[in-house]
Amino acid sequence: MQSCLESSVPILTKHFFQFHYFSLLEGFQITKLQITKLQILHLTRRVDFALLNAMELRKDPITRSWVITGDDVIEPTPRSQDCRFCGPTAEFAQVIANLPGMDGSTWSARSVVHPHALYHIEGEAARRADGLYDRMGSVGAHEVLLENPRHDGHIWNASEVEVEQFLRLAALRIQDLKRDSRFKYISIFKNHGEGAGQEFEHPTSQLTATTFVPRRVLYELRAGRDYFESKERCVFCDILAQEERQNLRIVETRGDYVAFCPYAPRTPYETWILPRSHESSFERTGSSRVGSVIDLAALLRRTLQRIRSVTEAFHLVLHTSPNSQHPSATLGYWKTLDDDYHWHIEILPILEAKARSYTFKEIYYSPVTSETAVKRLREAKI
Ligand SMILES: [Zn+2]
Ligand SMILES: [Zn+2]
Ligand SMILES: [Zn+2]
Repeated sequence: MQSCLESSVPILTKHFFQFHYFSLLEGFQITKLQITKLQILHLTRRVDFALLNAMELRKDPITRSWVITGDDVIEPTPRSQDCRFCGPTAEFAQVIANLPGMDGSTWSARSVVHPHALYHIEGEAARRADGLYDRMGSVGAHEVLLENPRHDGHIWNASEVEVEQFLRLAALRIQDLKRDSRFKYISIFKNHGEGAGQEFEHPTSQLTATTFVPRRVLYELRAGRDYFESKERCVFCDILAQEERQNLRIVETRGDYVAFCPYAPRTPYETWILPRSHESSFERTGSSRVGSVIDLAALLRRTLQRIRSVTEAFHLVLHTSPNSQHPSATLGYWKTLDDDYHWHIEILPILEAKARSYTFKEIYYSPVTSETAVKRLREAKI
């Protein structure tokens, strides 16, 4: 058995493999090795399967960001025309939560265990040293949030009430997972379109609960805390106040919510949605403020319609406060967290022709300024 891992290396590298960069902008990185069924048969004779299936988290000691890695065998699923979430096999999905249905359907928004979950709920992270490196088990949660029971019920063509139900489900799932003190952060994101790495045909978003805070959120938390320390104000509230005063980059305002193109965009037509009233946690807004989620649903729906007038593909990510139930001694931002952080949604459109200009670059380059982008988004026929 001594040579089992060593002997696997030449076999694996010989074959076709693909690296998946998933939510790269978020600072999660996933490296997966995809192997076909024939290759699996070839490998079973020589490689211990336990080694192939174990995913683990490793920390880059220089950037301090966590990477999820493992030689993950993708079981080839038989090709089928049926949708796994609304077709005849939908009953096999492991349902976690349902919001009650409307107009005769049994549910309006639903959360299920991801069929190829990267994080698993059982066990402890067991963080440990590996020489100068750090590693831990991929303990967490990985869920698929079904935005609508209808296979074509995308956010941009669903009703406002339907989008509201999906947002409420997202808030409830975050609240529920934050009760588990092992988890530091709950992410909700959506990858839509081929260029974005869309996984399912059915309208879905995804949720992960992790034992670490994704890098981009960590930057925001530190920046928010530093700004608050010197000015005693929330940096997001100050940005919003200036944007509303200047009115150069505001796409649309709806009730308490504002959509605008950020001053320094990472991608052309990047758009953020923020509540005007200061609030660090999306899930508090989503589950308590009666009547305000419908405005957010309407603005999200309209903003995605505008973005889709420019491009089909986009990443969407919700940034909310980390889990303050987590007994972390190393992070010093908990005391002012509710004052210095402000939840928001970021939408990063993917423009195929321009994709090369900014993807995989160390410095973001957006060939369209936000002042120009906002004109096209405002004028989009929606
Ligand atoms: Zn479906
Ligand atoms: Zn604020
Ligand atoms: Zn953010």
